[in-house]
Amino acid sequence: MCRKRVGNGEMGRIFLVELEGRAYRCRFCDSPLTLADHVLSRSFNCRRGRAYLFENVVNISVGPEEERQMMSGVHTVADIFCCCCGQLLGWKYMAARDKNQKYKEGKVVLERWRIIEDTGGAEGYDLLDTDQNSSEAEFS
Ligand SMILES: [Zn+2]
Repeated sequence: MCRKRVGNGEMGRIFLVELEGRAYRCRFCDSPLTLADHVLSRSFNCRRGRAYLFENVVNISVGPEEERQMMSGVHTVADIFCCCCGQLLGWKYMAARDKNQKYKEGKVVLERWRIIEDTGGAEGYDLLDTDQNSSEAEFS
């Protein structure tokens, strides 16, 4: 488990993809997951509030695919988990039935409350949660 590596040097550390720049990390174990540059949309919602759609996410493991009825239609999705601490992070769109939803295929939604933003040392503005355009809800 990841928490073990804190104060434990490099012992038992599992390999993680490191990210440069403004990154989002797992709230529980601090593993880097994706970059702010990879955000496609901040207007998704999950049961616990805001969620973001990302182009690309690393350090995750993908669960079994299943058909899920969502606000925008039926999608084939898979839950995704932090590869380090195992917490549920969100879901990945494997396939969409609706042509208009095809852009989501292969993309990953991370629930905002499960991740933290790492500004990479840069001070200043916070883009997060300033986008009030919550047009898209994805409750499952
Ligand atoms: Zn984690």
